Amino acid sequence: MFNYDPESMKIKICKECKGTGKSDGGEVCGNCGGTGRIVVRTNATEYQLSDIENSVVDFDPDIMKVKLCKACKGLGFMIDNQGNKVPCVECSGTGRIIKCDPKTEFMMSEIEEFNS
Ligand SMILES: [Zn+2]
Ligand SMILES: [Zn+2]
Repeated sequence: MFNYDPESMKIKICKECKGTGKSDGGEVCGNCGGTGRIVVRTNATEYQLSDIENSVVDFDPDIMKVKLCKACKGLGFMIDNQGNKVPCVECSGTGRIIKCDPKTEFMMSEIEEFNS
């Protein structure tokens, strides 16, 4: 169960059934559970490894992935104009970021508020 968060979630028409809630054969659409709508978490959020270590956010393997930091290509540092190594601010020198998948879809039945 998830709580609906209007900041990061949107209710959209189910693409599989185009909002009808039924498949082509007239059966209940498996993608949306027959509601014709799905809830999409839209915000692409990035966290630093230190956020997880310090329990600022909980790591959720369903929606989060550890990725190489694009800014420093996983090195953890960047080279400045003088040729000096400077710690990458994007990843705090860890070379990794935690990416929260922006396109996570939920069924309406998975959202707490719609089932009370
Ligand atoms: Zn559907
Ligand atoms: Zn970096």
